[in-house]
Amino acid sequence: MEVMLTKTVTERLKTPPASMSGVVFGTVFSDHMFCMDWEDGKGWHNAEIKPYAPLILEPSSMVLHYAQMAFEGLKAYRTDSGEHVLFRPRENFKRMNRTAQRMCLPELDVEEVLSALKQLLRLDSGWVPHESGTSLYIRPTLVATEEAIGLKVSSKYLFFIILSPVGPYFSQGFNPVKIMVSDKYVRAVPGGVGFAKTGGNYAASNLAEKEAKELGYTQVLWLDAVERRYIEEVGAMNIFFVINDEIVTPQLTGSILPGITRMSVLELGKHWGLKVTERRISIDEVLNGLKDGSVTEVFGAGTAAVISPVGVLSYKEEEYQVGNGETGPFANRFYEHLTGIQYGKEADPFGWVESI
Ligand SMILES: *Cc1c(COP(=O)(O)O)cnc(C)c1O
Repeated sequence: MEVMLTKTVTERLKTPPASMSGVVFGTVFSDHMFCMDWEDGKGWHNAEIKPYAPLILEPSSMVLHYAQMAFEGLKAYRTDSGEHVLFRPRENFKRMNRTAQRMCLPELDVEEVLSALKQLLRLDSGWVPHESGTSLYIRPTLVATEEAIGLKVSSKYLFFIILSPVGPYFSQGFNPVKIMVSDKYVRAVPGGVGFAKTGGNYAASNLAEKEAKELGYTQVLWLDAVERRYIEEVGAMNIFFVINDEIVTPQLTGSILPGITRMSVLELGKHWGLKVTERRISIDEVLNGLKDGSVTEVFGAGTAAVISPVGVLSYKEEEYQVGNGETGPFANRFYEHLTGIQYGKEADPFGWVESI
């Protein structure tokens, strides 16, 4: 794939934030973006790195009406030695292709887009922040652009990658969050698109998240749509429980997003010789376990926060404290080790880290 390069003219280059403290997640973007078009009969073409700028889309562009789209989220990290690296980036593009299949979008060549991403990152390398715990968030996005409001599969697409410097997820340190179990709404149904990273899933979750926030909870914990009994996941994180020193997470059923952090926690746990299990886990089992002390930790896992300890669960207007409400040893160990690998402080026995 030939990537055309159009650099931003010097006088229009922006200055990256001097410090990431106070910068709201995902609100600042680097100087350049990668774009590529797809059309029926033509395939992928017009691969170009160009100045970050508004897109020109007709109001009839299909994505704006029927949400035929896919996105991804990964990060570039600056290691202690000053090198820039990615964490398991192929997994993101492979997952984007699984989303693409489900949403009838054209698939990407994983190696070609990864190479284009690295080219973009080398050009905008000044945007990878330096402070501890910061990173450059990467948002690949694929949208339907055919200008037609008839309901069908689009014949034209735009793929783009934009970059956003982000601070540490926990501005006040690594603190447990309060989450609300939703028994009113569901996120995804069997046979639906829950496993896909596609916009509509998040639009459909907004109301539940908004109601939870009004009640003082930062996130929603989703239950299965059929019985409203089995645990699925949190807003943009998978969920883990420590039950009698065993690491338990819901098995992938098609309605849960298969997180790369989730996969990494499972692989790391196994590597350490811990007992790790993927199975169905009911809300009753968790609440009973919190009461009798067999459930000692609950934590979320996702790219944004890496590991997010849960201090309180609320279900049917009753609150349940997890352990003593503080970060537990397992959450802490996974957090330290995963971020250690990402920032080059820990050995990387799995080859998860890739230089740019
Ligand atoms: C992105 C996402 C996750 C976490 O996936 P990672 O690959 O670990 O970042 C979990 N759940 C949902 C709904 C997500 O969108």
